[in-house]
Amino acid sequence: MILILLGPPGAGKGTQAERIVRTRGIPQLSTGDMLRAAIASGSSLGKKVQAIMDRGDLVSDDIIEDIVSARIKEPDCKRGFILDGAVRTVGQAKMIDRVLKKHKRELDVVIEIEVDEEELVNRLRKRIADAKAAGRPVRADDNEETFRKRQAVYREQTAPLIPYYRKQGKLRKVDGMGSVEEVASEIDAILDEFAAA
Ligand code: AMP
Repeated sequence: MILILLGPPGAGKGTQAERIVRTRGIPQLSTGDMLRAAIASGSSLGKKVQAIMDRGDLVSDDIIEDIVSARIKEPDCKRGFILDGAVRTVGQAKMIDRVLKKHKRELDVVIEIEVDEEELVNRLRKRIADAKAAGRPVRADDNEETFRKRQAVYREQTAPLIPYYRKQGKLRKVDGMGSVEEVASEIDAILDEFAAA
C-alpha cells in the first residue's frame, strides 16, 4: 500500500505514520527527517538546506525528487510506504506520479488530517514546554514565529494538493482534532478498506 499523509505542520502526520509503520509493516518516508539527518551529518545537502529549513521555507522540488526517488527504490519499500510530509507542492505531486509510474506502481490513497491552526499553535507551545521540562532539544524550526510561517507556506503551496488529489479520486479526510487514538482509528478504517481491496 502506498499512501500520502497530508496536513499542516503539527497536525500529527509523524505520530500517525509511526503507528502505521508498527501496525502495517511499511516504512515511513519523512523528507523532513531525511533532511534533518543530512544536516546532522554535515553533508553538502545538509549545508544547502539548513538555512531554508530554519526559515520555514520549502526546499526545492529537485532536492525532494532526488531523495524520494532514491529512497523508494530500497527493498523495504517493495510492499508499500507512507509519504509523510514528503509531497508539499503540486510540482512534487506530479513528480511522485511520474516516479511511481516509472516503477509500475500506483498511489492508493491520500489522507488529509484536518486541524484548526490555532489549536496547532497551542499544541506547539505544549510541545516546546514539555521538551524543555524533560531537557530534550527543541527543533530549530519549532518556535512560534517559524511555525506560523510554515503554516502560511502550507496554505499557499501545499493546500493546492487537496483539489489535485480530489480530482484523482484519491483524497480522504480525517478529523485531526481528536486524540491520537481517535485519529488513528479513523485512519485505520480507511486503510482497512484498501488492505481488503
Ligand atoms: P517536516 O519535518 O515535514 O515538518 O519538514 C521540516 C522542513 O523540511 C520543512 O519546513 C521544509 O523546510 C523541509 N521539507 C520537508 N519536506 C519537504 C518537501 N517535501 N518539500 C520541501 N521542503 C520540505
